This record gives sequence, C-alpha cells and structure tokens, in this order.
Amino acid sequence: MSESVLYDRDGHRNILLEDYGHGLAVQANQHLVIHGDEGMILDPGGHKVYTQALGATGKLLGKSTLRHIFLSHQDPDIVAAVNGWLMTTDADAWCSELWVRFVPHFGVDRLVADRLKPIADEGMYLPLGDAEMVVLPAHFLHSCGNFHLYDPVSKILYTGDLGASLGVSYVEVPDFDAHLPFMEGFHRRYMASNRALRAWADMVRELDVAMIAPQHGALFRGEAMVQRFLDWISHLECGVDVMGHSYRVPPRRG
Ligand code: FE
Repeated sequence: MSESVLYDRDGHRNILLEDYGHGLAVQANQHLVIHGDEGMILDPGGHKVYTQALGATGKLLGKSTLRHIFLSHQDPDIVAAVNGWLMTTDADAWCSELWVRFVPHFGVDRLVADRLKPIADEGMYLPLGDAEMVVLPAHFLHSCGNFHLYDPVSKILYTGDLGASLGVSYVEVPDFDAHLPFMEGFHRRYMASNRALRAWADMVRELDVAMIAPQHGALFRGEAMVQRFLDWISHLECGVDVMGHSYRVPPRRG
C-alpha cells in the first residue's frame, strides 16, 4: 500500500492510500482526511485491504483520533470490513439510511452496532475538528442510496464510484481524452441515468472543486480537469438511457 499526500496545509491533510494488485478484487483507493486532532476514513474497503489500511491509517493519524468512517454506499469493496473498523476504533460509521439495516449482514458486532449511523437522503454536515465536511446526495450514482463527500478546506470532492477508472497505472489523470476509454464502459453500465448525472453535475458546479477523487483508479486535479469531467458526465447516456430492450428471457446457448 502506498500513500500520496493530496493536500497538506495548516494541520489539514488529505491522504490517498492506494493499493494495486489484489488478485480478483477490484483495485480500490482509501482516502483519509485529517483535521487537527480528528480524522475520517472514506470507503475503507473489504477484508483484503483491512489490515494494511488500518495500519496505515493508525500511523498517519499519530496522536489524532479517527472520528468518522464514511461509507458512500453499500458495496462490499466499501463496507465489508466495517465491523473491524468499528471494533478497533471509537469512530462512528455513516451510511445511507437505506442501507443501515443491510450493512449488518456483513457482520456488525452488537457492541458497535449503534455506531453505524444513518444519513438522510438530503445529506448532512459532519464535523471534523473545527472544520466541517459536506455529505452530498449522489443517489443512483450508482447505488440508490449514495453519497459523496466534499471537503471545503482542501476543495477535494470524493466521488466514490463516480469517476472510477479501471486498469490505469497512474494516480492522476494526465490526459482526459486518453483516459476516457478506462471510464466509459463502467459508467455506461453502472450509473443509473443521464438525468441523475446532470442533476449531480449541476449541484457540483455550485461548489469550488479543485480535485475529484474517486474510489477506483485515477483522480482529476485542477479546475480544467474538473470541468472536463463535469461536461463529460452531464452528456453521458448510461443505465436506463441505453438499456433499450434488454429485458428478454435469455436464449439458451450451446
Ligand atoms: Fe459500488
């Protein structure tokens, strides 16, 4: 597991823990935000990265304590190891109110179950030290109960599966057009509809975003890259837009 510091100023740090090559498991990024003496981990991942991610987080936090575990949605690469995080830290875990009763199927100990907290559909603010992180609605992108996190200090927008790329070896997107083939198929199939993408992009345009950091693959740094991403995503047809007549009883093969 390697660490990239995305932002480090006046006691506020944003660190990417990236991890490549876990066999069958999809590559995933874990993000850590530390402000003063409090930290939060975003989409901490499943069992394959748990030990390494927990160790790296503890080391980076130093004397600071982990206050929040943010779960953008309910997928296994995000929540599977949440019990371990709850058992070994005093942090609260936050996920959509739609998923609070489902996540315990990954195994959440009774002792820590009350620290798995619901986020209402409209989103919320999470205090971190004397700063405040913004939990933004991103429903149907791709999960029906889905949130992103905006850090107004570093101006990093953490977008979970939105903006994800598969099979790239760079940490930052160097060339948007050359990067498109690594995102397109995933977004067309996993994201629900262009209507949801457009609504999301309109919301994001109200914010001052310096970087978009997804949970898989490379991140988008700088205003120009962020704009390119918003323009691309607003025009992308996906999910129900492109399903066509996909619902048919399948033909028998062979
Ligand atoms: Fe997902």
